[in-house]
Amino acid sequence: MSLPPPTGLVDRYGRVARDLRVSLTDKCNLRCTYCMPAEGLPWLAGPQLLTDDEVVRLIRVAVCRLGVDEVRFTGGEPLIRPGLVGIVEAVAALDPRPRISLTTNGIGLNRLAPALRVAGLDRVNVSLDTLDQERFTRLTRRDRLADVLAGLADAAAAGLTPVKINAVLMRGVNEDEAPALLRFALDHGYELRFIEQMPLDAQHGWDRAAMVTADEILAALRAAYDLSPDPTERGTAPAETWLVDGGPARVGVIGTVTRPFCGDCDRTRLTADGQIRNCLFATDESDLRGALRAGADDEELARRWRAATLGKRAGHGIDDPSFLQPTRPMSAIGG
Ligand code: SAM
Repeated sequence: MSLPPPTGLVDRYGRVARDLRVSLTDKCNLRCTYCMPAEGLPWLAGPQLLTDDEVVRLIRVAVCRLGVDEVRFTGGEPLIRPGLVGIVEAVAALDPRPRISLTTNGIGLNRLAPALRVAGLDRVNVSLDTLDQERFTRLTRRDRLADVLAGLADAAAAGLTPVKINAVLMRGVNEDEAPALLRFALDHGYELRFIEQMPLDAQHGWDRAAMVTADEILAALRAAYDLSPDPTERGTAPAETWLVDGGPARVGVIGTVTRPFCGDCDRTRLTADGQIRNCLFATDESDLRGALRAGADDEELARRWRAATLGKRAGHGIDDPSFLQPTRPMSAIGG
């Protein structure tokens, strides 16, 4: 008798999680002011981190038992995880093979892009908030703009395409750079996405009133470009996209705060220490590392992951008076 088909990651509202974000480390080699304090954070201790084999095993459970078809590595900074290439290779060997991407600050791609491509990485998102070297150094507290720009070029040269750029605009810091960032992306064939700043900073300094909104970003872009609605089906993508000057080039805005898309969310998250989070803004987590190290088999891990998904809230609730910022900052959740 054949077994019934395994069920996927379905929540109470009928949403199905198929897009897995995996944080490979909470450490980063930049100190972006809107993300981390200058001195860094109390990092996870070595034994708390999943080993490479544990990461691959949990991804295998997600892909082979739970219907996940997209795996995005993130962090912290995933390029500083020593076992990254081997992890990508093992995930690319899964059947069915998921799409595999990476969100990175780009530093080190010059060294790693070809090996990651060969291992099976499909594409990258590179974070870049400013093209001005002085601003970059102030914003990230590191003088590494040249490395990021080189990383972008090396990712494209290695075929990790489409190369996407993530940019966060902040008032009084880089809010005037929307058109310049788009010009840069268009000139290089990168796809640019602006992300509204979210209440996920370690310092808890986010201020709704000071945030640069999706509407403001679009207005700034429209002063320099013609934006028309993108006829491509948005599906579960977080970014709303527009055609630039008639297309085919596009630009996107991820308006998590002012244009929430929780109703279409298909994401599930695994932290570097093996906790499942069903939402970026979740205040609770489910411990898979403990179960795994206690000897749970794959079906038990899958069962726990399904149970963690059931508890996903309808929305992130940023606008609710009772909203509580998660204790883990973005760098420790995996953006
Ligand atoms: N280090 C990698 C990078 O730079 O892309 C991956 C991790 S980083 C946390 C992922 C993304 O989250 C980056 O694009 C970063 O700009 C964004 N990010 C960090 N804190 C944020 C916040 N409070 N609101 C919106 N985006 C944020």
